[in-house]
Amino acid sequence: MRTNPNIVITGTPGVGKTTHAELLARNTGLKHLPINQVAKEHDCHEDWDEELQTWIVDEDKLLDALEPLVAPGGCILDWHACDLFPQRWVDLVVVIRCDSTTLFDRLTARGYSGKKLDENMDAEIMQMLLEEAKEGYDEEIVVELYSEVAEDVEQNVERVEQWIEAWKKAKNEERA
Ligand code: ADP
Repeated sequence: MRTNPNIVITGTPGVGKTTHAELLARNTGLKHLPINQVAKEHDCHEDWDEELQTWIVDEDKLLDALEPLVAPGGCILDWHACDLFPQRWVDLVVVIRCDSTTLFDRLTARGYSGKKLDENMDAEIMQMLLEEAKEGYDEEIVVELYSEVAEDVEQNVERVEQWIEAWKKAKNEERA
């Protein structure tokens, strides 16, 4: 049984996943796993999608690479998708959301344009990641948090920290 939870932080690119994951890792000692980086390090990039300017990932290979990292618990899985992570790995799914005007500014600042920009804007407006999370996991473990201004990050991370403490307490009681 895990003594620390595995937490997925997901959402459309630009909503603030990495910002949240880094602060949460700093405050809790949980291990931040930026999945893009794991995929790159383990050679899980299958192909380059020229139109969307993004890597296509070999998901089976990625899951094999992740399994030993995630099995002991205490990981923050930071990615713009979530439904590929097996339910048994995941204790909490945090979906970061953002107002579309804010997101547009963040993505254009990042150099996104054309189809890549449009698709990500549509994904956020249609709350695709929230739906994906609700479909893939028990609704009780899915939380939606907004990330517009700096204080939101602090507050959201604090909320997740409280959740982690409650999770640990419940696990300790189960074990006793
Ligand atoms: P993601 O990992 O989801 O792509 P990032 O964490 O890289 O998103 O954030 C994208 C950009 O938005 C960064 O420049 C980050 O500093 C900024 N940002 C994210 N969340 C907030 C927030 N709550 N307030 C202000 N800026 C934010």
